[in-house]
Amino acid sequence: MTEAAVERFRALTPSEFFYRNKELAGFSNPARALYQTVRELIENALDATDSHMIRPVIKVVVRREGEDRFFSVTVEDNGIGIPPAHVPQAFGQLLYSSKYVLRQTRGMFGLGAKMAVLYGQMTAGKPVEVVTSTILSKRIHHFKVSINIKSNTPSIVKKGSYSKLSEWHGTSVRIYLEGDWMRSKSKIYEYLKRTAIIAPYADIIFEDPEGNVLYFERSISKLPIPPREVKPHPKGVDLEMLKMMASATKAKTLKDFLVKEFQSVGEVTALRIISRAGLDPRKSPKSLRGHEVERLVRAIKEDDKIKPPKGDHLSFVGPEIIEAGLKAVLKPEFVAAVTRKPSVYGGHAFIVEAGIAYGGEIQPSDKPVLYRYANKIPLLYDEGSDVSRKVIDTIDWGVYGVSFPAPLAVLVHICSTKVPYKGVGKESVADVPEVQKEIELAVREVARRLRRYLMKKRREREEAERAVAIVKYIPELVRSLKKIVGDVKEDMLEKELLKMVNMKLRAMRINSVDEVVVALE
Ligand code: ADP
Ligand code: MG
Repeated sequence: MTEAAVERFRALTPSEFFYRNKELAGFSNPARALYQTVRELIENALDATDSHMIRPVIKVVVRREGEDRFFSVTVEDNGIGIPPAHVPQAFGQLLYSSKYVLRQTRGMFGLGAKMAVLYGQMTAGKPVEVVTSTILSKRIHHFKVSINIKSNTPSIVKKGSYSKLSEWHGTSVRIYLEGDWMRSKSKIYEYLKRTAIIAPYADIIFEDPEGNVLYFERSISKLPIPPREVKPHPKGVDLEMLKMMASATKAKTLKDFLVKEFQSVGEVTALRIISRAGLDPRKSPKSLRGHEVERLVRAIKEDDKIKPPKGDHLSFVGPEIIEAGLKAVLKPEFVAAVTRKPSVYGGHAFIVEAGIAYGGEIQPSDKPVLYRYANKIPLLYDEGSDVSRKVIDTIDWGVYGVSFPAPLAVLVHICSTKVPYKGVGKESVADVPEVQKEIELAVREVARRLRRYLMKKRREREEAERAVAIVKYIPELVRSLKKIVGDVKEDMLEKELLKMVNMKLRAMRINSVDEVVVALE
């Protein structure tokens, strides 16, 4: 055997792995990285505000830094802030997160901010700058942190604090990186617009590198009900997870373990599962052997009497907020939205919402414009492979009175503690049959409302056209009447009748007889 044939083995740290595979998290090139950085920081800002009943005020600045290729992205929020002890790891250690609990959040991989920090470090060579203060804190803390790639640990380049003179709380994060503004501009604008649609309760201010300022002013004060943390549902748990839970639990017996650590499991259900698995309910969960855990998992899978997971811990947006968002940003003539009841796939509860907007300032297109969201995050890439696109494209819109090209936009929002994303880039949702069905039911429901509106409008139009046809006879009618009744003030009568027809048309949102006459010609 030659020396060259000997392989050298070692493990990669998460930082090294993502350093080599940054495209997995959406950081594939300078354009994409700039977009992804803006996005990850905004998502963190929103998680820190609306999930805690704070009306978000978010300021985003993308600035050119010296050379053409370099930029800084700064996102400031009025959220709950970050305790200073956690700042270094939150920004300098991959896979460090406060969101590794079963709760619906925008973040979920403990990667977003760090990937931006890592990319910035690789391209611009600068640490991330964080300024933060929690609600009760009397001080404001500032940090400069970079990532030690080899060991996946943070290094604090600089830190300090000063006393807080105002009530300010929140976080400001600045990342320097190589970007490509021209190639990411339209995506970033689209992302902000779509964020404004789903979060019309937020004030969002954006300053771009050209000095343009875009302001999405809050248009509704209502906030979605925040998500709550839940225990896992037994049907959503696999072998490894069950093993980990059994070794971590404080419960002394198998029965208590199932009752305490899972949702939808009471004493009766716990005993049924345990007996189906052929185990002793008094057994300590810590003493479970591999094959016993397997039996437990199988027993859970086979049990069809376990109550399905409830969705009351999920934070949906609600029809009122969706309609307000669509109205404020798209300025359509018609909107409708619906929130479906919670449903379940593979042990995970989810809720689908749909909105529809028609006419007004929406530009006609050959198929419906689709706005996709998952846990309130707009999804922009990979639309073609997303389950929502598939559903929208299989619907025969003629049934709903729409013929293309038409000014039609459809919004689909899926919320869940486990959205079936296709990758860690969080860009498209897989076609899970249960989810697909709910999307279709939601979209068809708002589409039916659109149909009612369009039919009513069509009826009114026909009525208007009839009125116009009759209006033409007014002068002749008045002349004939005069012959019969004698002294009629012709002008007055004619004016009066026209006025009445006009009033009727206005009520139908048609401007005047003239407009209809013109439209008819
Ligand atoms: P994730 O969002 O998936 O948890 P991130 O790397 O984006 O991962 O963020 C890591 C953690 O840092 C978050 O879980 C959160 O606790 C904290 N964090 C980041 N940004 C903010 C912010 N703007 N306000 C409050 N906490 C934040
Ligand atoms: Mg995040």
